[in-house]
Amino acid sequence: MKPPPFQYYAPKTREEALSLLAQHGYEAKILAGGQSLVPSMNFRLAQPGILIDLNGIDDLFGIHATEDGGLRIAAMTRQRDVERSTLVQSRAPLVYEAMPYIAHPQIRNRGTFGGSLAHADPAAELPALMLALGAQMSVERATDDGRRTTDDGQSIQNRIVPVEEFFLGLFTTALEPEEMLVEMLIPPLPPRTGTAFEEVSRRTGDYAMVGACATVRLAEDGTVADSKLVYFAIGEGPVLATSVSEVLQGVAPTEEAIRAAAEAVDAEIDPDTDIHATAAYRRHLAQVLARRVLGRAVERAKAE
Ligand code: FAD
Repeated sequence: MKPPPFQYYAPKTREEALSLLAQHGYEAKILAGGQSLVPSMNFRLAQPGILIDLNGIDDLFGIHATEDGGLRIAAMTRQRDVERSTLVQSRAPLVYEAMPYIAHPQIRNRGTFGGSLAHADPAAELPALMLALGAQMSVERATDDGRRTTDDGQSIQNRIVPVEEFFLGLFTTALEPEEMLVEMLIPPLPPRTGTAFEEVSRRTGDYAMVGACATVRLAEDGTVADSKLVYFAIGEGPVLATSVSEVLQGVAPTEEAIRAAAEAVDAEIDPDTDIHATAAYRRHLAQVLARRVLGRAVERAKAE
């Protein structure tokens, strides 16, 4: 199928892209890797009158180390570049572990880090990873009055959205129509912290039936100082299982404690039945994945 007609813009600067967004608002859509947007246009599920292609804006690409030991990943960075980055491997091992599970290599060659987050598919890996890591989203729009706000004289307004406020529901984020996601800020992992990721899908490259990621920080005496378990493909967005943190807080992370934490999750989740899996099977997978990722995260935290 072919998409309906649209106007196409290829801005060379963020300022130009933001000015186009300010002019066209709801009528326009940003084109990043096109791996989700173009198929939905071909199926006529999305019919934007205007496409603003970010692929020519050089400063929207790149992975940078921050002084505090964290990372900045620019929105247009290809998923494949994140997957192959040694900086990501050392500073955000959870992201590094998960990247090969996103779609297929051909899709990751074009698909972008920011595109996946802006798209907010409930079965996507990256929203769950960002929630587990406590990332912040850097979002820009054109200033109302064209005021110059940056050193290089751009008329840009920036806001930082904590990940907890970014994902609002099914394919919905806190981004306004005239806003652009420009960068993700991933904080450093505290000492004695381990992370782990796992998903179950029918075939390699398919969206997961259920996926989970965990972070566990151990106190000096070996008890759990804090922990997070986040699911994807089990709700309308990434699902933080708060009961896990409550059950594990301050206790020794034994097999029994991890099992109890995994069991507590059952009361918190409400999976659906669809053509890929029944709700009962998803519940079962949620338990199994919780035990596995929490167990691995604990072992990795001990080895830190
Ligand atoms: P696009 O398709 O270009 O854009 C997606 C949406 O985000 C559009 O609405 C666009 O306007 C908006 N957008 C993009 N960038 C910005 C920005 N900087 N600021 C504001 N809005 C923006 N994904 C997974 O997570 N896991 C999978 O297992 C998976 N499997 C897939 C299998 C197939 C066969 C296909 C075709 C896709 C799959 N995907 C999967 C999706 C893939 O990861 C996409 O790359 C991703 O969802 C969208 O990224 P993109 O850069 O292609 O964005």
